[in-house]
Amino acid sequence: MKKLAVSKRAVRAIKQGAPLLTEYTFEKEVAFEEGEIVTLLTPENQFLAMAYLAKQNKGLGWVYSHKEGTTLNRAFFKEQFQGAKNRRQLLLHNEETNAFRLFNAEGDGIPGLTVDYYNQYAVFSWYSEGIYTYQDEIIQAFKEVFPFIKGAYEKHRYQANDEQASSYLYGEEAPAPLLVRENGIQYATYLDEGWMTGIFLDQRHVRNAILEKYAAGRTVLNTFSYTGAFSVAAAMGGAVHTTSVDVANRSLEKTREQFEVNGLNPDDHTIRVMDVFDYLRYAKRNELLFDLIVVDPPSFARTKKRTFSVTKDYSGMIEELIDIASNQGTFIFSSNAASYKRDSFLEDIKRAFTKKGKTFRLVEEFSLPEDFPAPKSSHISNYLKVFVIQLVNK
Ligand code: SAH
Repeated sequence: MKKLAVSKRAVRAIKQGAPLLTEYTFEKEVAFEEGEIVTLLTPENQFLAMAYLAKQNKGLGWVYSHKEGTTLNRAFFKEQFQGAKNRRQLLLHNEETNAFRLFNAEGDGIPGLTVDYYNQYAVFSWYSEGIYTYQDEIIQAFKEVFPFIKGAYEKHRYQANDEQASSYLYGEEAPAPLLVRENGIQYATYLDEGWMTGIFLDQRHVRNAILEKYAAGRTVLNTFSYTGAFSVAAAMGGAVHTTSVDVANRSLEKTREQFEVNGLNPDDHTIRVMDVFDYLRYAKRNELLFDLIVVDPPSFARTKKRTFSVTKDYSGMIEELIDIASNQGTFIFSSNAASYKRDSFLEDIKRAFTKKGKTFRLVEEFSLPEDFPAPKSSHISNYLKVFVIQLVNK
């Protein structure tokens, strides 16, 4: 087994539990095979941690253990799955919810792999070729710990091509759509359509907050709405009307379907296939006002007309949103961009309100839910930031 000394600056981070290896971890470029296990040493040749190497979207691999000699085999994987299962007893026995994250990568002990639970089915996501080299052992271990899973699909998140990203893995095939339940609401999901399934499981608590306290009696605008999950939660929570805006053609029928599977009439709601920025201009021109505005953009998006990046453009977008918020209106600002730090995000929100001469109250804040555990020392792992903001004295 290879032994590699890390750079001076990497020692502290790794000792504090930062799991990600990057180009700064080593002094020199390292040649490696995907999934290769290495023993990490300090510059003084003391044992530091066990890691595997892999080319990823971000980084060069992951620390997976601080115990010398720990290797990646079926027993190791089984222990991690068992731990994850023990930590999810409440969710596994929750009658209202049968869609959540069963296994969360470095937070549960196998960096590079997540497994989501969708009403008796599982979806594996492999984030590097490196972790995928262990697939046989991982799947065997998983089946031993979760024998009740009816069938499974897998996503190759390291493939650039969305079309080749999804495939059937084992067991029974899932119906399409597969209906899942979350806090009593139904969602239509498709386990074998590209990377995405129709619902982002990490927003469960946000949807629940909308359902229980932010929607009743209100008009709701859901921007970057995808399949309209936030809109449906709002409608189920007693919203007077919801408007969903997404530029993707598929969003229209997918959003209609989400309403329908909950016994709601989609014709009672507005669904627009349109660029959010065009919609904002349209809404302002027509003096539309919304009581609750939900904003959950992708980190980066390119449409025919423009590019949007959260770090550069979120603040400006909030200025435009303030124009169409009703008196005392509530905003839910979300970002899942790992590189967008919580404090910069909040600064961007403040700047937008200041520019508009408005004040706001931070009502509530969300981060990842309990089924997405993440090492505290890793901001990349703790990617989700959600602020509930109320406009005051407009
Ligand atoms: N908020 C959603 C997830 C959003 S995913 C949910 O909770 O389910 C991001 C969505 O933004 C995608 O559906 C994509 O089509 C859409 N999108 C990206 N750029 C856009 C733009 N300029 N205008 C409207 N929608 C956009």
